[in-house]
Amino acid sequence: MVSQDAKREFRARLESDRTRLQGEMDGLREALSSQTFQEDEGTDTVSIHPADDATELFEREKDLSVLNTLQASMEDIDKALAKLDAGTYGRCDNCGRPIGEKRLEARPSAIYCIDCQSYLERTGRLPTP
Ligand SMILES: [Zn+2]
Repeated sequence: MVSQDAKREFRARLESDRTRLQGEMDGLREALSSQTFQEDEGTDTVSIHPADDATELFEREKDLSVLNTLQASMEDIDKALAKLDAGTYGRCDNCGRPIGEKRLEARPSAIYCIDCQSYLERTGRLPTP
């Protein structure tokens, strides 16, 4: 059972993580939207530079994949915050067993116990409780 004090601390950590993630995501989105390919309309010059485009595309893909990772972390944090609100924080979302305070300290956004989490990472799905 996670104590009220510990819950307050986890909530504070989750909220500051959330703020940090939000900032990073905003920065990335801005970078992505400023990268829109500019077309030189009204000129006859051919302005296609395959090498530059490839680099730009690569940068864009990289930003998008970072953005996806941040988005996933953000979803985990939101789920953990929802569990704090619902009073189910510290219990595995899959099997209902306690997640363990050590694990929560290492990762306050954990919503599954270590057994369910490792099963999920190994097989891509959650074990049947
Ligand atoms: Zn579990």
